[in-house]
Amino acid sequence: EATIEVSDLRKRFGSTAALDGMTFTVTPGRITGFVGPNGAGKSTTMRVILGLDSADEGTALIGGLRYQALRNPLSHVGSLLDAGALQPSRSARGHLLWLAHSQGLSARRVDEVVEYAGLGTAARRKAGGFSLGMRQRLGIAAALLGDPPVLIMDEPFNGMDPEGIVWMRGLLRSLAAEGRAVLVSSHLMSELQDTAQHLVVVGRGRVIADTSVADLIAAA
Ligand code: ADP
Ligand code: ADP
Repeated sequence: EATIEVSDLRKRFGSTAALDGMTFTVTPGRITGFVGPNGAGKSTTMRVILGLDSADEGTALIGGLRYQALRNPLSHVGSLLDAGALQPSRSARGHLLWLAHSQGLSARRVDEVVEYAGLGTAARRKAGGFSLGMRQRLGIAAALLGDPPVLIMDEPFNGMDPEGIVWMRGLLRSLAAEGRAVLVSSHLMSELQDTAQHLVVVGRGRVIADTSVADLIAAA
């Protein structure tokens, strides 16, 4: 079952409580917007879900399992964090081939995601010279390699031009419409209110509101 369940995550960095009881569920078939000001704990939550950071307390499960317990993780969950961690000296396609190889995925799949992410001929260029918007596209391609049912995107609109933002919205919507669970963070409500069907609003490491966008608009 392609669901993300975050339960009572707590984490301190020194005297800062980055996560203070963070609890929410991301269900398949819709975009869940994860919105809150900088420092609210969005990235830390995503890093804990993805096994890149550990929580002091609480659990984060993908389809009932911790990230570390997933076999072939790229086929369970795709992620875009920090515009994708890149190998700057490789071409974009080379980077994707290397990632695919490490997961037993085919080169044909690399060509599919290059096309899907709209990388075009830029795929032959070194990723180190990419603009942030192109790095986002490469990150999307990497996230989709394993055709995962769960997607976690940290600020995917950052650095994209207006045309890229429209493209990214359409892509995220179609990925959710295919039945995936899609978690997308932003510090801007305006970026998510027209994109997401559901919103988890956070501040100071915890959830302030957990609501469908339709209910939010009806209440306004
Ligand atoms: P957001 O993604 O919502 O901007 P973060 O999860 O990045 O929030 O940060 C939550 C809090 O944790 C902030 O106060 C931030 O400064 C702190 N924090 C995050 N990562 C670290 C770290 N590696 N070391 C120290 N403090 C951190
Ligand atoms: P390790 O366990 O050695 O850290 P990972 O498989 O987690 O290996 O990741 C290795 C490298 O693959 C990362 O440092 C990063 O450069 C790249 N990578 C992994 N996932 C992604 C992704 N979703 N988008 C872009 N690059 C990624």
